[in-house]
Amino acid sequence: MESAEIRRRWLRFFEERGHTVVPSASLIADDPTLLLVPAGMVPFKPYFLGEVKAPYDRATSVQKCVRTPDIEEVGKTTRHGTFFQMCGNFSFGDYFKEGAAKLAWELMTTPQDKGGYGLDPERLWITVYEEDDEAERIWRDVVGVPAGRIQRLGKDENYWDMGVPGPCGPCSEISYDRGPEFGPEGGPAVNDERYVELWNLVFMQYERGPGEGKDYPIIGDLPSQNIDTGLGFERLAMILQGVHNMYEIDTSRMVLDKATELTGVRYGDAEHSDVSLRVVADHMRTAIMLIGDGVTPGNEGRGYVLRRIMRRAIRNMRILGASGPTAAELTDTVIKAMAPQYPELETDRKRIETVALAEEAAFLKTLRSGTNILDTAVSETQASGSTVLAGEKAFLLHDTWGFPIDLTLEMAAEQGLSVDEAGFRRLMQEQRDRAKADARSKKQGHADLSAYREIADGSGATDFTGYKHTGDEAS
Ligand code: ATP
Ligand code: MG
Ligand code: MG
Ligand code: MG
Repeated sequence: MESAEIRRRWLRFFEERGHTVVPSASLIADDPTLLLVPAGMVPFKPYFLGEVKAPYDRATSVQKCVRTPDIEEVGKTTRHGTFFQMCGNFSFGDYFKEGAAKLAWELMTTPQDKGGYGLDPERLWITVYEEDDEAERIWRDVVGVPAGRIQRLGKDENYWDMGVPGPCGPCSEISYDRGPEFGPEGGPAVNDERYVELWNLVFMQYERGPGEGKDYPIIGDLPSQNIDTGLGFERLAMILQGVHNMYEIDTSRMVLDKATELTGVRYGDAEHSDVSLRVVADHMRTAIMLIGDGVTPGNEGRGYVLRRIMRRAIRNMRILGASGPTAAELTDTVIKAMAPQYPELETDRKRIETVALAEEAAFLKTLRSGTNILDTAVSETQASGSTVLAGEKAFLLHDTWGFPIDLTLEMAAEQGLSVDEAGFRRLMQEQRDRAKADARSKKQGHADLSAYREIADGSGATDFTGYKHTGDEAS
């Protein structure tokens, strides 16, 4: 089933069941606590918080999301993208646990020729919050899931809040068993690669007080109980299209194939080049979706998220053997792949291409000048009889020339050197500490520390979290 059809079915199913279809909001969050939208519920937050009354009791959407904290997982696990889409259905004081569970089960298991996704019910597993007897009873007695496929998980996995006093509540998740080729049995509680998490149902039930992490008191019941769910679109597509990982679904595979065509590296030849190809497929899609929503590359905030992702894609193309620019072809492919779902990408093609190509040109230039500095450092190291490039050199390359450490590692290794990574990390840490101390004294209104600030500001010490947590990132 093609991505465009998966999306149509989602929206139709919930629309036919009384939900208002709400178009995806921009990735640029209309919310001062977030850089980018990490979950489908974000545009509905004022309704969930009770700040504004929802204009409908039920809504559904397919929301564009970016989760930069997942960046290191990309290409290594089979199921984490920096960009993905979250399908959601939402109830504002309308149906609650039983309604949400029944709807989810119906859509997942209704045969494809009857409008559902037709997943084999025997492969679906359920997790509930360990104290949520009600949810377990509903799955077992109302929906009919065998008790052996329902597992209980603790607060870290199955409890949702926003990191501040306000609504909170237990979650319940649906996972899909991909079979023994993905690992040993035992259910999602023990193996999340084989039993891949698809859908999180959040039951907003209680009001919480202040506290650190998950350690806070429950003050009482919410005046109206709400439902927020999030299904990973690409993960579902991966199952429905019978592919091994989310970078091989139709829309991403086009980009991956373009990267193989441009580099001549075959997918499946070696694990490390496969990871690079998947990173390119993921990151180029993310970069173009960000540019599409109006983000431009820069050194802080969203601009830095985009720059980092774009540069990672280009660097991986380089690792794969591309010597010249490739952004034009990759951008064109992403637009073609995503435009059936997001036609505005075609309309905005010129602007998107201009931004992407300019960033690539700037980075290739950085690479060229940084490469000279690195070569000099390598010769000096070798002349001194050492095989270890000093941490200071790696830090300088990072700090002044924008060279990511893994690029320095790789390029040094090509010339037979290792890098004093511990020394590099120590210098990075010192720089972060300086920036933090500076921020603290700024806050406390201390004496003029502008000299320090200059050091810290010039340091490129932006922490790459992509968005500021308001707490748990569960949909
Ligand atoms: P995981 O445990 O796999 O990292 P999560 O618990 O962080 O997922 P939720 O916050 O519950 O995810 O988000 C709801 C759904 O969104 C998940 O069940 C999953 O299907 C999807 N999802 C979350 N993160 C990603 C990602 N990085 N790439 C693709 N899909 C994702
Ligand atoms: Mg996660
Ligand atoms: Mg999870
Ligand atoms: Mg989850």
